[in-house]
Amino acid sequence: MDIKELITKSSKEQRQALLNKEVSAVELVNAFYDRIETTDKEIGAYNSLTKDFAMETAKKTDEKIRNNEHLSPLAGIPLALKDNINLKSYPTTASSKILENFISPYDATVTKKLKENLIPIIGKTNLDEFAMGSSNENSAFKIVRNPWNKNKVPGGSSGGSAAAVAASEATVSLGSDTGGSIRLPASYCGLVGLKPTYGRVSRYGLIAFASSLDQIGPITKTVEDAALLLNVISGHDEKDSTSLNQTPEDFTQDLKKDLKGLKIGYIKELCTEGLAPEVENAVKKSIELYKSAGAEIVEISLPLIKYSIAVYYVIATAEASSNLARFDGVKYGYRTKNPENLYDMYVKTRAEGFGDEVKRRIMLGTYALSSGYYDAYYKKAQQLRRLIKQDFDNAFKKADVLLSPTCPHTAFDIGSKIEDPLSMYLTDIATITANLAGIPAMNVPVGLDNANMPIGLQLQADCLQESKLLNAAYKLEEAVQFNQYGKILQQV
Ligand code: GLN
Repeated sequence: MDIKELITKSSKEQRQALLNKEVSAVELVNAFYDRIETTDKEIGAYNSLTKDFAMETAKKTDEKIRNNEHLSPLAGIPLALKDNINLKSYPTTASSKILENFISPYDATVTKKLKENLIPIIGKTNLDEFAMGSSNENSAFKIVRNPWNKNKVPGGSSGGSAAAVAASEATVSLGSDTGGSIRLPASYCGLVGLKPTYGRVSRYGLIAFASSLDQIGPITKTVEDAALLLNVISGHDEKDSTSLNQTPEDFTQDLKKDLKGLKIGYIKELCTEGLAPEVENAVKKSIELYKSAGAEIVEISLPLIKYSIAVYYVIATAEASSNLARFDGVKYGYRTKNPENLYDMYVKTRAEGFGDEVKRRIMLGTYALSSGYYDAYYKKAQQLRRLIKQDFDNAFKKADVLLSPTCPHTAFDIGSKIEDPLSMYLTDIATITANLAGIPAMNVPVGLDNANMPIGLQLQADCLQESKLLNAAYKLEEAVQFNQYGKILQQV
């Protein structure tokens, strides 16, 4: 296979080419840098490249191949890392002016694991500032364009991680998901995106947005690649106090399992009202495909979903206002020039360093936590969060996997929602509840709309049921046969 075609494929084909010595890991990494050179000026997926690191890792991989040594499944496979995850000695900016010149002093736990598996990290990807957003238009540096149509948003906040994979500027990537930031961009860019169970993957070294909701997870072209990457990044970590003490699993084990007897529950509240007609059709078609594959279909009601956006925007902003207090011009990154006194230094540093959306969140969160309002907003939101989790517990008594669209519509035009935060917040209606409940959830691409934009289906399972979730996703992927990334290569 020509190397230009090889870069559009999943890790499976690339690994085979490496093992057959048709291509070396160094050549593969170089082919991705050539691709980035020609396309990323237009797409804007990367904030920075980490070429020295990627080359060094590729050389080590080649040496292992030459010596016929054991090679971990994703060794030599180029990965893009969201720029809110630390890679030692390279910049980590969270796409914020306040961290523009910040160099990571240590590796995130996931990064350490990528290194141990000889996975070349080829660059740090653009995001909504501090992962706050749904369209990647909130980056302090530049917007990201959707490789399927450059006038459309790629989704956010992991827009760079998704666009990089869709445009074949990386084979796989890592994003972070606080309310949908892995699944929404995966949906808009026609990719697989998985938010693991809360606590499955260590958050150590991920710049905190809302600590009780944040999880790191894979964005890939295939379900198998998502499972392989989850194998690498998951596991208990004593450096993260919310990390689960789980026994290691191989998430590829059950991928091909028969679906007979599996109960799939479609979520009534998300599958019927307010959907774009083509999204509604895609949902119906997916349900039919599952029926033909032997799964049993049941209807599930999650009546409290209507409160989820309100609950999320109280809890997430409250946690963000607390987490972002550390950016004060003293400990990290940017500091205002010529302050008059200490107080003036704090105020000006934060006023100049943070963008509008981040300031909006800090103000909302500080308000919700202030005495007098705490009981009315924050406490109520936490109570509702518990009830939402209870709704899911009941749902999982009736179904193994829940089905809905990932978003009621496909990717929208750049600029069309940025002036209207509320309509932007509504794009997260289907994704947010998984974070509130801590359950694993993923996007699987299931087709294109009339404008040739990808449509995504969301699957969710109970806590720690990733194997079941990936099995359902794999079977859907097999039935849909979405794979069309070669097409994008011609377009951009
Ligand atoms: N769009 C949501 C927000 O802006 C979710 C972001 C995320 O998952 N990081 O908060």
